[in-house]
Amino acid sequence: MTASKVFPLRIGRTKVPYGQFYGGLGDFSIAEFAEDKDHFIRVPIHAFLIEHAERGPVLVDTGIGPEQAGEHARYYRGSIMEYLMDDDEYELPAGERMEAQLARHGYRPADVQDVVITHFHEDHIGALNLFPHAQVHLGRAEYEARNTKALGLIPLAYPRSIEAVRHWRPVDFTDPGIGGFDGSADLFGDGSLVLLPTPGHSPGSTSVLVRMDGYDVLLPGDAMYTIQHLALDQVRQMQTADAGLFADSIRRIQWLHRALPNLVVLTSHDHTRYGEHLRAAMAGGGLSEADLAWAKAWERDTFDPVYNLNPAKLPRFVPAADGGPVGQVA
Ligand SMILES: [Zn+2]
Repeated sequence: MTASKVFPLRIGRTKVPYGQFYGGLGDFSIAEFAEDKDHFIRVPIHAFLIEHAERGPVLVDTGIGPEQAGEHARYYRGSIMEYLMDDDEYELPAGERMEAQLARHGYRPADVQDVVITHFHEDHIGALNLFPHAQVHLGRAEYEARNTKALGLIPLAYPRSIEAVRHWRPVDFTDPGIGGFDGSADLFGDGSLVLLPTPGHSPGSTSVLVRMDGYDVLLPGDAMYTIQHLALDQVRQMQTADAGLFADSIRRIQWLHRALPNLVVLTSHDHTRYGEHLRAAMAGGGLSEADLAWAKAWERDTFDPVYNLNPAKLPRFVPAADGGPVGQVA
């Protein structure tokens, strides 16, 4: 069976250091992450709504919530996040809240019985408290690491952001492998939503392969920040958990991308032309043949057959014209 529709949901945006996205080959460190206040970029935050014939609306990630965005210091008080992150880390216009985005598709949070979370970072679980009734599916390694401390201080899963969840459903990857993956988890047993282990960005980061009619959509969360991060040796994000596992996961995604000729990749924060085009194209819940062809042509123009990046597309930081700290990526 295939999933019937996939809708990207824009849930605000976040301000991140350029090095967090693109400094991984220069060993951009957590100290630079905290101290660099001159090279920010703003990137969108996305969750994904999948319509499944039998399960109804299924969410992949939940984005941020209004308290994280509007009361940042209060939300993170008592945690190092209050100091490590700027007060304007998140922006969430009312019309982009999860409730508003679901309403656009005719749903209330109570209608969502299944939520998959790719990983426990705050910009993916901030609206989880809207879904206390739902089953929350995630990789077992991520679930088991939920209380482990990053920087020796804060648990991987910020307690306030997950306190409402009642039905954790850790998954094991015991179904057959696909592409470069040794195993998978067929979420509903019908082949429509296939979870794949892509650890490294966090201990148990999980990607979701959505099988559509005639094409496939991979939702890697932050296993890679943009489509260009497929070029592992030219474009690499800051390493946040395990650099070896991170690189291994990207290689497996490359293999999957090669094995499924009609696969497109929609990361959570893709601010490139590819991400923008695909999300606009999927506003109706699917991809036309023309848009699929556009995506494949963009990929061919961007990567060689072994995923080296076209040098003309190498990202670089462009400072703001007004001299402010928030620039852009060219
Ligand atoms: Zn993220």
